[in-house]
Amino acid sequence: MKKGFAIAIDGPGGVGKSTAARLVAQELGMAYIDTGAMYRAVALYQIENGINMYNDEKLERSLKDIALEIVNDGGVQKILLNGRDVTDLIRTQEVSEGASVVAANLRVREKLVAQQKQMAAAGRVVMDGRDIGTHVLPWAQIKIYLDAPPEIRAQRRVLELEEKGQPEDYKHIYAGIVARDKRDRSRKHNPLIQAEDAVYLSTAQNESPKDTARDIVNIYEERGY
Ligand code: C5P
Repeated sequence: MKKGFAIAIDGPGGVGKSTAARLVAQELGMAYIDTGAMYRAVALYQIENGINMYNDEKLERSLKDIALEIVNDGGVQKILLNGRDVTDLIRTQEVSEGASVVAANLRVREKLVAQQKQMAAAGRVVMDGRDIGTHVLPWAQIKIYLDAPPEIRAQRRVLELEEKGQPEDYKHIYAGIVARDKRDRSRKHNPLIQAEDAVYLSTAQNESPKDTARDIVNIYEERGY
């Protein structure tokens, strides 16, 4: 498949990947693709249609009925599930959990990874997820692994929700993050690991997504792209 120019950003949930990735894409005039949204949309389909996503056979059978599309709406990524905009619906705790369940299934991964490879083939993309540098775009010119301890990610998430007027208990959020980390790191197919040639960046010392984005743009410039 034809290769373009790609920056792959991987790391655990709640580490600030999406915001940083979006800023990098804006700054460098590249397209931004949030692959997590695709797993989320598959989970949403299961929930909305009452399908038991823990049952591999049922989950796999549903795949032929799922068409996903990522569109850019004035710089904002929108995800369409069978033509319907589900961008906001996929951000619930239930969908977060479900996404990491469906993401463990090989057939789900094959379908989404094929589409992701295709989206990156032609142009210049910043793509974020769990397996972008290791499996989806192993050829990516720049690979970043973004990390922070689960306590810090949980604290940030609680603050974020508070600001949105949706207060949540720290312990509940923390437990969700730890469970998702475990599933993403221990699954058999394309688990979350740092690619050998990825640059490790930590957001543990209160680095904002803006700081992270600047670090990534600096790497881009230092390498002379
Ligand atoms: O990044 P986000 O939290 O939206 O991802 C939701 C879930 O989708 C993750 O917990 C993970 O299980 C799955 N995922 C994945 N591979 C990716 C992106 C997301 O397995 N490239």
